[in-house]
Amino acid sequence: VEPTLVTFPAGATSGTGTVLDVRPVPDGFAVVVDRTPFHPLDHAWPDQPADTGTLDGRPVLDCRTGAHGPDGTLALGADIAARRGEAGWTWVVAHIVEQPPDVGAQVQLEVEPDRRAALSRAHTACHLAALAINAEAAPWWREGHGARSDSLGSPDLDAMAIERSRIEPDRSIDEYRLGKSIRKKGLDSAALLAGLDDLAVRATQRLQSWIATGAPVAIDAGDGTLTARRTWRCALPGGDATYPCGGTHVTTLADVPATTSLRITATAAGYTVETVVG
Ligand SMILES: [Zn+2]
Repeated sequence: VEPTLVTFPAGATSGTGTVLDVRPVPDGFAVVVDRTPFHPLDHAWPDQPADTGTLDGRPVLDCRTGAHGPDGTLALGADIAARRGEAGWTWVVAHIVEQPPDVGAQVQLEVEPDRRAALSRAHTACHLAALAINAEAAPWWREGHGARSDSLGSPDLDAMAIERSRIEPDRSIDEYRLGKSIRKKGLDSAALLAGLDDLAVRATQRLQSWIATGAPVAIDAGDGTLTARRTWRCALPGGDATYPCGGTHVTTLADVPATTSLRITATAAGYTVETVVG
């Protein structure tokens, strides 16, 4: 079995593939094809949910990351013990269907486009929100701080504090933790937590000014395999923004509603950012 070539980073929602492998799983059959537009849930960083759609007209019940082991077994999702890129493992997209196609068959893959578009809008807005908050939180880092910079030159609060990200249709929820190590790096986290409402207002203004540029968005997809390192890119007024990302995105900020906004709320561990698209 070869690593699955994925076309979702370029925005594809349909395509044909050749069936390479079919295996029974508790909820049906896992179907692996050579090339697919389906985005599976990532087993290590499960931010964007699996695409829905059809495989030769059969409903795709779920879409999971799969890893073929050296002994020929196929591990799916949370059952994958291998590290990404570990020698001897081949990474594939597993489409879960009730009735399996034949190995060797050519199949038509169709992703439900409206849900995909809503997830792509939310995912792009999520990265813009992270960069906008990084920029607006910069004054809370003391001079000579030890934080590394994001792609626009702000201290990368997002990378240092993010615990979990969940992308939904036209909405994302990102949970951040402010621990001892980030304070040691030079963040005045008490002042940040006291200023969350103001931060949300200023970051929303920055986000909306970026959206208004209608800048193009692109994904560098590496060698095109499922586990290639991919990078989100957007040319913003402050510079060429980048963000490591395995998900799907709009191709222009013109597709993100101008009224997209942020809500930031304190939590026991830090704060949560809700990005609402539209
Ligand atoms: Zn992402």
